Amino acid sequence: MKKLFMTMCLLAVAWMLTGCGHSHDWVEATCSEAKHCKTCGKIEGFPLQHNWKEATCTEPKTCTLCGTTEGEAKGHTWNKATFTEPKTCAVCGATEGDKISCTEVNLSRFYDDSTIRQFACLEHTILCLYYNKDDVDFFDYDGKKVATVDIIPDGDTTAYYTDIADPPDLGNVIVLVTMVYEPNNTVVFSFYDEFGKIIGQVEAEGFVPEDKLYVRNYAEGHYLRINKTGYTRGYDAVLVIDTETMTVADNEAGFDSLRKFDGSQYKNSFLQATIGYKYDLVFGKDGSYAGYVDEYGNRVAMYKDASPFNYYGFALVSEDGKTYDVVDSDLKVVGKGVAKGSHSGWAGSSVLYTLQDGKIHFYSIK
Ligand SMILES: [Zn+2]
Ligand SMILES: [Zn+2]
Ligand SMILES: [Zn+2]
Repeated sequence: MKKLFMTMCLLAVAWMLTGCGHSHDWVEATCSEAKHCKTCGKIEGFPLQHNWKEATCTEPKTCTLCGTTEGEAKGHTWNKATFTEPKTCAVCGATEGDKISCTEVNLSRFYDDSTIRQFACLEHTILCLYYNKDDVDFFDYDGKKVATVDIIPDGDTTAYYTDIADPPDLGNVIVLVTMVYEPNNTVVFSFYDEFGKIIGQVEAEGFVPEDKLYVRNYAEGHYLRINKTGYTRGYDAVLVIDTETMTVADNEAGFDSLRKFDGSQYKNSFLQATIGYKYDLVFGKDGSYAGYVDEYGNRVAMYKDASPFNYYGFALVSEDGKTYDVVDSDLKVVGKGVAKGSHSGWAGSSVLYTLQDGKIHFYSIK
């Protein structure tokens, strides 16, 4: 009897402790807290479990109940743009940008002008070099002249220039380099953009006019290599200019990252820079093939004919030498049979030309 009384007393105390005599003010359970009373803190049950929704291209793994996230969005798995489809996510179908545009542009006025030694199609302008003129002209694609650069100062006969109108690794920023020899063995390099605007100058010592110099942009990133020969593609540069800081870099700068492999099995050891240095373009000695090799010289893909990559990252390849396909920088065919012709290539960095029916056709491929 005494034991029962004791138990009842304990129960009463327990009731008084928990009950407090109020009606609980419940807060519903969340993922982090169980259902509990705001006033006394009494807990009932357990916190909810997160209800995870798997990560998508654009959203991280997310709890549908509380919005907590874990990790990061997966990001889109892009398939590159083609002639028929814009850049498209293989997972969610999202698209970005436009499909590759291939439009014929009329450049016959440049092509037919016999005073023009060379013209190069840049992103926004066309650069013209002449046979008997010290000027370099820049025209827009409507044919309007937008700038003229006088490449040789009046009265100076020792200066000469070179253009580098196909500089994928320089982001097409520098399209023209002039070199003017000063007394005291210095040479002044001036760099111009595609609107004929000077964007920097660098002076280097130890050069005389007899040192004919060649600009080679066959280096990683923003390094411009100056050679004494036009044939060696920058491997034996006598000067390396950092075009970002407009300073003479150490001669070794960027040197180690140049692709080095025995190119003697190819025509002229012809190694042509491509976008991001992913591949080098090589030509067979007997002219029977052309294609791309990786940085170690391993053959990636060989064709009957192949072109350098243009500014936008496209190249022309041909299986039979007659019909050309456009490939992206992964060598994936993005457009077929666009350039049927007996001969084709890139005019400058953005325009492709083909010879069909005895007539030259220019196409802008972006
Ligand atoms: Zn309570
Ligand atoms: Zn949750
Ligand atoms: Zn996606």
